[in-house]
Amino acid sequence: MNSNNLLDNFKNNITISSSIKGEETFWLNPNLKPFKDIKDKLTLSEADILDAEARMLRFAPYIERVFPETKDNKGIIESELKEIENMRSSLWSEYKFDLGKRLFLKMDSELPIAGSVKARGGIYEILKYAEELALSNGLLNPSDDYSVFAEQRFVDFFSKYKIQVGSTGNLGMSIGIISAKLGFEVIVHMSSDAKDWKKELLRSKGVTVIEYKTDYSQAVEEGRNNSDKDPLSYFVDDENSVSLFLGYSVAALRLKKQFSSLNIEINKDNPLFVYLPCGIGGAPGGIAFGLKTVFGDNVHCFFVEPVNACCMLLGMATQLHDKVSVQDFGISGITHADGLAVGRPSAFVGKFMEPMLSGIFTINDFRLYDYMRNLMDKENIFIEPSGCSAFSFLQNLSPLKTYISQHNMDYNSDKIIHVAWATGGSMVPKNVIEIYTNTFL
Ligand SMILES: *Cc1c(COP(=O)(O)O)cnc(C)c1O
Repeated sequence: MNSNNLLDNFKNNITISSSIKGEETFWLNPNLKPFKDIKDKLTLSEADILDAEARMLRFAPYIERVFPETKDNKGIIESELKEIENMRSSLWSEYKFDLGKRLFLKMDSELPIAGSVKARGGIYEILKYAEELALSNGLLNPSDDYSVFAEQRFVDFFSKYKIQVGSTGNLGMSIGIISAKLGFEVIVHMSSDAKDWKKELLRSKGVTVIEYKTDYSQAVEEGRNNSDKDPLSYFVDDENSVSLFLGYSVAALRLKKQFSSLNIEINKDNPLFVYLPCGIGGAPGGIAFGLKTVFGDNVHCFFVEPVNACCMLLGMATQLHDKVSVQDFGISGITHADGLAVGRPSAFVGKFMEPMLSGIFTINDFRLYDYMRNLMDKENIFIEPSGCSAFSFLQNLSPLKTYISQHNMDYNSDKIIHVAWATGGSMVPKNVIEIYTNTFL
C-alpha cells in the first residue's frame, strides 16, 4: 500500500495519528458485538476448541513420557493462575487505579517444555501434524496409547520429514524442541530480534537455525519459500495458521477450571478483564477466542503492543489488517519486546477478532523493565519484558472507564477481576535476567 495515500486517508483518525507520533495509544473497538449474536457466524466454534483439547489429552501420555517435567500435571502443558496481591496493592496506589480489587497473573511464563505461551500453540500444531502423518502411514491406530510416539520406529519415520518455521525466538523454541524430540529435521528461520541464547539452545538440541538481519515478516517469507520447494517439508505458518490459533485457545477451558477451584465464578457481577501481549496476534487471538467462547460477554479481552510495533492496532483500526505494516506508517517496528517485534499482523486474526475484542493498548519499552523489576520485587516472579506489557492496563484507567460506560455495564466495577497474561520467562538464562534487571531506558 502506498504510504502517502495511507497517511492521507487516516490523518484525521486520532488513534492512528497518535500511534504515528509514537505516543502510547488506546483503541476501543467500535465493532464489539454481544457474543451470542456473532458466535454462530464465526468460522471456528467451541467444537474446534474441544477437538484441540481432546488431541492434547491423547498426546498427554507421550508428553509425560518424554518431558518428565510435565509429570505432576500428567503430560498436560499448563501453567498456574496466581493471585498477585502485593503487586496489586503497590500498582493500585502508584497509578491511583480503582477498578476491582483482585489481580491474577496467568503464568504462561512458566509453561513447561518451552517457557512461553508458544508452548501451547506451537507444540499443538506439531503434534497434530505428527498424528496425521502417523495415521495416514499406518503407524498408529486411533485407539493406541500415544506414548508409542516415543518409540524408535516413530523417531526413524519422522526423520524423513522436515519442519520449518519463522520466528522472533519463542515460536522457534517451542517448534524446535518438540519437533526434534519427535524425530523431525527442523529448520528455524530467526529474525534479527531473536536473542542469541535462544539460537544456541536450539542448536544444542540439533535444530538448524538460520539467522536473518531483517525483521519477522522477512524471516517468515524465507522460511515459507524454503519449505514450499521441498515436498517433505511442513511449514508452520504463523501468519495464517488456524491450528496454532486453536492450540492457544484451549487455555480458556483450563482457566475456567482454575477459577472454579478458587471458588471464583465469572459472571455478570464478577466480570473478567484480560490483558494479552500481542505480536502477530495468534497467541492472544486464540486465547481471547477461547475466553469469549467460555465466558461470553462476562470476559473483556484487551491486546497490548509495543508503541513501535503496534501492527494489530493499525490493522484493526484501519480495517486493512495484513494489508498494512507499521513501516507503511513510518513506525520502526523496533522494540525491546522481542516476542512482540512484529510489523505486520496475521492475515486472519484481526478480522476474526473484530466482533469480540474489547480494545488495544500500546506501551513504551521503558515501562516493561519497570513492571518487570516491580514484579520481581513484590512477588519474586520473573517474566520477560515482552510479557510485562500485560500490566499496561494501569495506565489506561480512563479508557477502561469509558469502555465500561459505553457498554452500559451494570455491575459494580469493584468486582472486576483482572488477569495479566504473562507470556514468557522461565527459560531466560540468569545472565540475561541480570542484564534486563539493569536496563533503564
Ligand atoms: C509470541 C509472543 C507473544 C505474542 O504472540 P503472537 O502470536 O505473536 O501475537 C507474546 N509474548 C511473548 C513472550 C511471545 O513470545
